[in-house]
Amino acid sequence: MQRITILGATGSIGASTLDVLARHPERYQVYALSAHSRVEELAAACRIHRPQRAVVGTADAAARLQALLQDLAIDIEYGEQALCDIAASPDTDTVMAAIVGAAGLAPTLAAARAGKKVLLANKEALVMSGQLFMDAVREHRATLLPIDSEHNAIFQSLPGNYARDPNAAGVAKVLLTASGGPFLNRAVETLEQVTPEEACKHPNWSMGRKISVDSATMMNKGLEVIEAHWLFGAPADLIEVVIHPQSVIHSMVSYVDGSVLAQLGNPDMRTPIAHALAYPERIASGVAQLDLTQMAALQFYQPDFERFPCLALAFDALRAGGTAPALLNAANEVAVQAFLERQIGFRDIDRVIRRVMDAVAHGPASSIEAVMAQDARAREAAQAEIARLRH
Ligand code: NAD
Ligand code: MG
Repeated sequence: MQRITILGATGSIGASTLDVLARHPERYQVYALSAHSRVEELAAACRIHRPQRAVVGTADAAARLQALLQDLAIDIEYGEQALCDIAASPDTDTVMAAIVGAAGLAPTLAAARAGKKVLLANKEALVMSGQLFMDAVREHRATLLPIDSEHNAIFQSLPGNYARDPNAAGVAKVLLTASGGPFLNRAVETLEQVTPEEACKHPNWSMGRKISVDSATMMNKGLEVIEAHWLFGAPADLIEVVIHPQSVIHSMVSYVDGSVLAQLGNPDMRTPIAHALAYPERIASGVAQLDLTQMAALQFYQPDFERFPCLALAFDALRAGGTAPALLNAANEVAVQAFLERQIGFRDIDRVIRRVMDAVAHGPASSIEAVMAQDARAREAAQAEIARLRH
């Protein structure tokens, strides 16, 4: 029996994970669930999955959850330390890291340091802490499995004994596919006027609001390039982004002998979630089998870095190294939030990030404290830039 902690159980990935777990009660038992503020949804999940522990963001949320779950014996806690505790507890084997943004770094790292099987959806955590996170995984013999559909596809297309060395494995390119999001073909001049509703309407995937906006700017792909760098030990020049609007091929690995291996499937996150949960076995996920005869033509294009400047900014941050990706991530989180709150326009997102990258000097990512300090500085600089844009 695998005992599972889900960080971010009320989100899109959290819900898909619970759906897969519910299909295999003989294999999985839910140990702990977390949510930030959606107390009612967490209470409903607790009634179905009966975890031992539940964690929310604040004392007030904890009191509300307690009131809803009076009749159940569930330990209810709140705050970051509690998140780290449910991630590192000796009573859990596997941690689904599905909190959105930098808030997920501390508990995800705690899981790695406790040597857990870490299922990583929270790409921002890895983008921020890169080498430090990978070192923790190695040092504490944690198992890191990618949930992001592209990285899961790449993982599946690499040899089973892959040791983060593309040369040794004969890898010529890592081909990261991207749908291009809702604005792939929209007239560039009209992007200034895009609303949060339009930006969150992804053509193929149903996801949380932050990652939906990231997909519209293609910052999501930029973060994924950095994520692929750390997961697979691939330098920036080995990673190529390919626009593939149908999202049927979830990514590919191109080898020196001319072979290209790909993973295909319907765009449903339950496939990579089930893959990582059961790895190296295979279990049913609830996702329908791909019907190739019903498929439209598959298309592939080069990305347009002028239409999607965030993609270029992410490549720049990866090449700059050190804390540059943490700055990029923090500026992006603040800018996306301001866009969702209608304080700034869609194109202001890349303007804010560029200004922060120019204004805040990056340094070596020598410790998590150094990374968090840079994260805080970037957030301040981004807020200042947003205030300036609003005047
Ligand atoms: P979501 O917004 O639907 O859910 C986010 C979860 O994080 C919620 O449970 C929320 O309660 C929790 N949370 C939010 N802020 C928090 C905070 N400050 N402290 C603690 N918990 C907090 O997001 P999502 O779409 O499920 O995405 C989650 C992560 O997975 C993101 O990093 C995203 O990039 C990644 N991801 C998502 C998808 C997808 O299809 N949704 C695909 C690939 C990767
Ligand atoms: Mg992805």
